[in-house]
Amino acid sequence: MAGPALVDPFGRRVRDLRISVTDRCNLRCQYCMAEDMTFLPRGELLSFEEIERVARVCVTRFGFDGIRLTGGEPTVRADLATLVRMLAGLAGPDGQPVDVAMTTNGVTLGLVADQLRQAGLSRVNISCDSLRRERFASITRRDRLGAVLEGVDAAVAAGFSPVKVNVVTMRGVNDDEAVDFASFGREKGVQIRFIEFMPLDADDAWSMDQVVPATETVAAIAAVYPLEPVRHGAEPAARYRYLDGRGELGVIPSVTRPFCGDCDRVRVTAEGQLRTCLFAMDEHDLRAVLRDGGSDDDLARAIEAAVGTKWAGHRIGQVSFVRPGRSMSQIGG
Ligand code: SAM
Ligand code: SF4
Repeated sequence: MAGPALVDPFGRRVRDLRISVTDRCNLRCQYCMAEDMTFLPRGELLSFEEIERVARVCVTRFGFDGIRLTGGEPTVRADLATLVRMLAGLAGPDGQPVDVAMTTNGVTLGLVADQLRQAGLSRVNISCDSLRRERFASITRRDRLGAVLEGVDAAVAAGFSPVKVNVVTMRGVNDDEAVDFASFGREKGVQIRFIEFMPLDADDAWSMDQVVPATETVAAIAAVYPLEPVRHGAEPAARYRYLDGRGELGVIPSVTRPFCGDCDRVRVTAEGQLRTCLFAMDEHDLRAVLRDGGSDDDLARAIEAAVGTKWAGHRIGQVSFVRPGRSMSQIGG
């Protein structure tokens, strides 16, 4: 049966599992979802037991050490703390613990931060693309900035460490807020991570000229708050430290400097399709294995076979790039 490590055809060890727990959301960010999305019927979603089985095979057989819950908006799935507890209890082949994290829009985090922390969630990334109320409402099509900011405070108060705030930078939309976000991060003690806009929007309106290069964002902030780079490993974020010691920020140059060469991830959509890349054209049906009575060995073989198809990387910006048929909220960001 499978060996302890799962290595793709390009020699990258796969050890990070991103699980979408729902395709539903309480916001409608322009760059992610259409206003009138059609959502999956409940029965199509993996149950908590099914999610736990996939995660258990990845952790106990292949030594995955990171799980991130995402969506859609993970906190709209009822009783999420129960799932967190199930996943946080997993341990690798040598008994090593697994790190369970979540990416959330923060809208309802104020209500659930404490219970998720107690259930074993270790870290949260909260997405927020503007600190200006009207602009936030225009980007997300919902007037919920106040709730998101309460969510950031609740995450800090609940003891998540670090708390990160994800900002998708878009030309002409919020590219004038880099320094405001840096100031916000320094005041709140949270790490801001600026993410380049990727072609996964529901209305297919993405174009290269809307991408704000991470280097530009760093230069704008460094002019106000001097920075130095932090050496880092396989993570996609390039990290910088404020020279005055007041924390760090990160930039994710997914478009201008893709980190595919270090990619250690696979994703499972809410309906149990394994994807080896955000931009993959193919999906591998783990739900069929689960619901057709497959054993853990069958599941491990299906995961191994899927990882055997992982490509070298996406080709955004090149003529050969083809965007996937599904948008970000359907894939699980
Ligand atoms: N609803 C949660 C949230 O917004 O954090 C989790 C799911 S969301 C799809 C995950 C992350 O993907 C968010 O940080 C979001 O900003 C980011 N995202 C969505 N669409 C994107 C796009 N087209 N380009 C870059 N990032 C995107
Ligand atoms: Fe919802 Fe997150 Fe997509 Fe915004 S980015 S619409 S919050 S899933």
